[in-house]
This record gives sequence, structure tokens and C-alpha cells, in this order.
Amino acid sequence: MTAYQVLARRWRPQRFEDLVGQDVVVRTLRNALSSGQIAHAYLFSGLRGVGKTTVARLLAKALNCEHGPTPEPCGECGACRDIAAGSSLDVLEMDAASNRGIDDVRELREVARVLPVRDRYRVFILDEAHQLSKDAFAALLKILEEPPAHVVFILASTEKDKFPATILSRCLQIDFRPIPAELVVARLAQVAESERFELAAGAAQLIARATEGSLRDALSLLDRVRAFAAAAVDEDAVAEVVGLPPFEAVLALWRALEGGDVAAALGLIRAEEALGRDPAALFEQLVQLVHAALLLATDPAAPAPFPAAHRAAIAESASRLGPALLVRLLALALEGKALVAAAEKPGVAVAVAVGRLALWPRLQRVEALLAGEPAPSGASGPPPPATPAVPTPPTAPAPGGGTPGARLAAALEAMGEHLLAGRVGSVREVTVAGDTVVLRCGGLPASTCASLRRAFEPLAAAAHRAGLGERVEVDESSSGSTVKAAATGLRARVEADEGVQRVLEVFGGRLESVEEKP
Ligand SMILES: [Zn+2]
Repeated sequence: MTAYQVLARRWRPQRFEDLVGQDVVVRTLRNALSSGQIAHAYLFSGLRGVGKTTVARLLAKALNCEHGPTPEPCGECGACRDIAAGSSLDVLEMDAASNRGIDDVRELREVARVLPVRDRYRVFILDEAHQLSKDAFAALLKILEEPPAHVVFILASTEKDKFPATILSRCLQIDFRPIPAELVVARLAQVAESERFELAAGAAQLIARATEGSLRDALSLLDRVRAFAAAAVDEDAVAEVVGLPPFEAVLALWRALEGGDVAAALGLIRAEEALGRDPAALFEQLVQLVHAALLLATDPAAPAPFPAAHRAAIAESASRLGPALLVRLLALALEGKALVAAAEKPGVAVAVAVGRLALWPRLQRVEALLAGEPAPSGASGPPPPATPAVPTPPTAPAPGGGTPGARLAAALEAMGEHLLAGRVGSVREVTVAGDTVVLRCGGLPASTCASLRRAFEPLAAAAHRAGLGERVEVDESSSGSTVKAAATGLRARVEADEGVQRVLEVFGGRLESVEEKP
């Protein structure tokens, strides 16, 4: 039985062409090797896990290969094999973090003076070289000022700005960029295929995002998730290992936002907090979902960091909201992210950020009014679903579901009409006939019936929002009278009025309710 070798090691590139996402670096070095312009010192800088040490070893091979110096080291000669195995006497790797003193560098100087044991060059690879002490840098500078012909230094570092200018000026500086997420995803898929295990596309996306351009970290994370998930690596397994909220929670939040339901959105945040989950992590996931939705709205084949099972549904709502609105939502989300990052209590900041996002239908109506466009009808509820040009939150089943009365009350709650929701809750019977919602309030105090009658406008809006109908009737049959109303029609007339629009524009207000004087 052989010991398990971690993926990052097993998949460490042994040839320049296997390197992922560092085309500029590779081309620069190959050109230099082809033309024989070999520097005595290189500084490889960039984030961790983007291939600096790997390229340093490849460069050492290219310099010392029996057939070299060559841009295509053979990988088979003694020099190539020893370097790959880390046993070459002429290629010395040092971790500057633990060998940072002047004595270490002095010793290195002694070694540098001696000719190579077998190969063409003595190559020194100094990892985390910015951690050298001041004296050590001074000693290193002395070698770099008059380097022996057979010596090549490769300094690797995540913090280039910590180097003395005197050292920088004597190095050929090569910057490594973060590896683009799609290349990391492609590499993870390739690894999974060769290693014969299942990796969901959304899971690969999540891993790539969580490790921010570091392929080594991505492979290590894949190792950990694979150990945790055993069989197939899916989004939830990644979320669990990374400590992200489960996708269902993010999706529920998205649904609440899509429906413009502030109360439901805030309720979800509280519920996640009560489960001990980090609200900031949930918000971060939401930002990524909004971003993915925007990409999907413009390109249905775009990669998405969530389970394939939900892809179609999110793509559908993304196309309904449209790229223009999603761009604004994303901008709001990014503002929210900055707010959350700066906040002492992220929970409160997340509530504010999510609340603002959920208010998008209102923002949109205000913008429409300011632009002088006719406001969408039913302005205190979502615009009608039949109008394709106007993004439409779906009339999703009201939270709590169930009877028409409960749904109507929930929609009123979501609109902030708490008193009215309470009154509807006390109504004996709420039924739906065609597109009309009938409230039977016979037996209730006359004042309650009267206040329901006065509230036709929000009632009709709530009925629309809850997907119950467009009209509302209040039936007071114990007193023998039925009062009917078509409040949405009245509201539309008022909204179309130019004078009203001017007033709203000047004062930046909105229509709360519309009532007909008896
Ligand atoms: Zn070779």
C-alpha cells in the first residue's frame, strides 16, 4: 500500500506547458532560455499558490538539463530527475522564513563560491525571501553585485514591496498573477476526471471562488472536501467544509429579495444567525449569487457557483429581472458588502444591506416616476406579470401559505401594513371568487368593517401580491350590505394624473393609498 499523496503535489506541473494561468511568465522565461539571456537573479512575486516555486524548479531544470539550457527540459536526464525529486546537489531550496539570519546567508555565500557538483549552474531558490533580515539582505547583495558565473538566484515572495531597492534593481522581476477562476475550475475538473471521482460543476466554482486564484489552495481544498464527502463532491459538501451557509439558505434569501419581501429577507437572516451561522458569509454568498444571476441574464451558458438543479430556476428569474436591474442590484450589493466589512456588528450591517436590496421594486418605481415614465400600475404591489418590459417579482405564495386569509395577511405584513393585517386576521371568512377576494366581516365591530372598507387600496395591492386576485369586496351581510371596490383601477387613474406625478417628482414621495371621497 502506498501513502496518499496530496493532489497539489501529485498535480504539480513538471513541464512549462502544464502550468495553469501563467502564460506571460512562461513565455518570458522560455524566450530568455532560447536566446541564452540568463539572469543571475530572478524575483518571482505574486499571491501564494499561483506557481512561483513550481516555476522556479522548472527554471532550474531548464538551466541544468543535460540538453540545456533549454526551454524544453527533457525531464528524463539525471539533472531533471534529481531536481523533480528534490535531491539535486546543485539546486538548493531554502525557506527564508526559517533561515533568515546573516549566518545562513554567509553559509550560502560560501556554497555559491564553489563550482557546481555535476550540473551547469548552482541554483538557489529562496522561498518567502522578503523575510530575510537586514544583515542577510546586505550579505545577499554582496553576492548579487559580483555573482559567480555559475550561480543563479531565484527569490520567491508574496510581498515584493518588502525588498530593499538595492536587491530589486539587481533582479529580473517576474510578476505572477492570480489564476483566473475559470482556469482553476477547468483544472479541478481535469483532476477529478483523472482521479475518477465525481465533482459537481457548481462545487468546482465554489472552490475556485473560495481560494481566490490560488491553484494550490484550490487543490488542497478539493482534497479536504473529498475526504469529507467520500463519494461525490457537491456544493453542499464544499459549503460545509469551508463554513459557508448551505445553498438552500442563500436561495431562500434570493427568493425573498426577488419578491421584494423585506420582512421575509430579514427573517431569514435572523434564522441563520440563530443557527450560529455568520451573517456576513451568507451575504457574501448572496453577492456571488446576484453576480452569477447577472452573468446568466446575459449569457445562459455562464458558469455559476450553485447546484445544477437550481440553475434553470435562477437563469429564469435572472432573465425576468433583466441585466439592467441586476447591475443596479449588484452595485447595491457591493455597497452593502463594503458596509458589512467596515461594520463592528456585521449582523446589523447585513440586515441594512439586505433590507436595501429587498426594496428594489420601490426604487424602481421612484426611478420610473423621476424619469417621467408612466408608473407601473398597482404601485404598492409588484407590477403586473404580463408586462415583459418591466421586471416583475413573482407573486410567490405568501410566507405561511395556506388559506386566502392567511396569505392576504402575510402579504399585508410584508408591505408593512401590520394593523390592517391584524384586522384581516380577525375576519370570519376570506374567499376568492374569480379575480375578487371577498372578506366577510359580518359579526365584527362596525368600526373594524369600516376600517377595512377604507383600506381597499392596500387590500387590493396585497391581494395582487399574494396572487389571489385584483379586486376586493367587503361583505357585511349581517347588516345586509356588501361594499365592493376595484381599488387598483382607481389607483391607476390617480397615478396617470399629470398633476400627481409632478407632485411626486418635486417632493420625491410615493403614493401610500388612494381613497374615493363619498
Ligand atoms: Zn533533462
